[in-house]
Amino acid sequence: MPAAAPPAAPIAENAARVRDRIAAAADRAGRDAADVTLVAVTKTRSLDTVRAAVAAGLTDLGENRVGELVEKSDAVPGEAEGGAVRWHLIGSLQRNKARDAAARADLFHALDSVRLADALERRAEQAGRVLPVLVQVNVSDEEAKGGVEPDAAHDLLAYAAEQDHLRPVGLMGMAAIAEDDRDLDRIVRPAFRRLRDLFEAYAPAGGAGPLSVLSMGMSGDFEVAVEEGATHVRVGTALFGPR
Ligand SMILES: *Cc1c(COP(=O)(O)O)cnc(C)c1O
Repeated sequence: MPAAAPPAAPIAENAARVRDRIAAAADRAGRDAADVTLVAVTKTRSLDTVRAAVAAGLTDLGENRVGELVEKSDAVPGEAEGGAVRWHLIGSLQRNKARDAAARADLFHALDSVRLADALERRAEQAGRVLPVLVQVNVSDEEAKGGVEPDAAHDLLAYAAEQDHLRPVGLMGMAAIAEDDRDLDRIVRPAFRRLRDLFEAYAPAGGAGPLSVLSMGMSGDFEVAVEEGATHVRVGTALFGPR
């Protein structure tokens, strides 16, 4: 991990700017900005940066590697361990890492197979907790993005709902990287719409509540995501600078 620790003030200023942009996007869509959670993506950043982010009022923190999440949540505990922040595990997960993920993540964003659901169910049971999960959907037609195909998303949600120690609460997706504003409308917006359509069309069986989390949007496209209904945006670079 890089040693350099930026002071809290620039992070607070960046966070204020990102929040303003979220508020403006919510406004354009006739939404309440309070319905959008800003997940500060601290992957590759130092523990000092994590502490500075918390000092700047950021309460939701995202990591894409479970080892880094464990290390950082040892120092800054999440809700799973009685702490005041929420740790989001946003990256794809190998089944041999399911134990730490099931014990430590406050929300896992990247469920993408039945086998991973089985591993997480077993490990969450051992940890004596219920793990909230999002099914990651590949809405960008890019192999590299990961996630299940859109037409498989509802089945995986239903499978997770059958598990005693998993609680499926929504969907996550990533759009292709936009090179310019035209791409945002031609490529990114349709991908986010596709995800929102899946989110709204899911009808849980057996008395489970409706989905509540739609995780989409990163530094380059979070405003479009908010316009298209995101409840969670995952932002790193716009808060902490280039990695
Ligand atoms: C790194 C990462 C982000 C944040 O990316 P930025 O462009 O730095 O905002 C969001 N989501 C996922 C899944 C990531 O891996």
